[in-house]
Amino acid sequence: MDLIRRVAKDLVEANYAIAFTGAGISTESGIPDFRGPSGIWTRDPEAEKRAYEIYGKFLRDPSEYWKEALRSPLYSLLEKAEPNPAHKALADLESMGILMCVITQNIDGLHQKAGSRNVVEFHGSVSKLRCIRCGSRFDKRKFIKVLESHNVPECENCGSALKLDVVHFTEPIPTDVYVKSFEEAMKCDLMLVCGTSAVVYPAAELPRVAKRNGAKIVEINLEETSLTFEGVSDYIIKGKVGENLPKIVEEVKKLRIQS
Ligand code: NAD
Ligand code: ZN
Repeated sequence: MDLIRRVAKDLVEANYAIAFTGAGISTESGIPDFRGPSGIWTRDPEAEKRAYEIYGKFLRDPSEYWKEALRSPLYSLLEKAEPNPAHKALADLESMGILMCVITQNIDGLHQKAGSRNVVEFHGSVSKLRCIRCGSRFDKRKFIKVLESHNVPECENCGSALKLDVVHFTEPIPTDVYVKSFEEAMKCDLMLVCGTSAVVYPAAELPRVAKRNGAKIVEINLEETSLTFEGVSDYIIKGKVGENLPKIVEEVKKLRIQS
């Protein structure tokens, strides 16, 4: 049986299927990934080192942090991007009642723009601000004037300096998304892992936890990953998510008509 038919059948037969996505699901929206063949860090390893300093900078000097965040070409690219057929396919699977939730490592908000409703943003979102003291989140648009006048935005609940909701390296994962993601990974019996190299922890623990709990793990990726090599995934569909996920949706529709 070809792998598209196989995953469609697995999805239809699953009781609780979820998706786990990474930067690779957004490359076809024009956002580069980090570690893929033409990723940001594959081409510029120094950029990876700088990324490890951002959170410390916020803790030391929020105003310096905001100066850099506002200049970042990556953040403005993310805010302008549009969903691609892969995001739309996952939203379709959710509205068909096949997919229960999407856990994404991405910060670009493209799953929601494509129509997915049950989305857990493990690494936060570029369009929100978050207070690391009380955990409150705010729509970034609310603070545009403050940011444009080069002031540090402050939490409306406790007055602390706000940062982007984005989880930077060395920053802990906010408790609410952490708990929700691990609950979903433990609950699912099928995890569709789309466009992630699965090397950033603790996010990369999610497919491993799901596997240990008996779930089937299916990867869609341009290349084999640590999940493939370690035998965490049951099988891998090698190729573009934007081409394969819409084919999977079509196959699921066919199977449903037949049954
Ligand atoms: P990664 O860069 O480590 O890995 C991306 C994976 O996707 C690679 O294995 C690559 O082969 C695969 N890939 C790339 N294009 C693909 C396509 N069209 N179809 C199928 N597979 C494709 O990304 P990661 O595992 O998500 O980890 C990087 C971290 O950086 C994450 O935390 C993520 O939040 C963050 N990040 C986010 C964005 C975004 O929000 N769009 C962009 C870059 C990085
Ligand atoms: Zn607060």
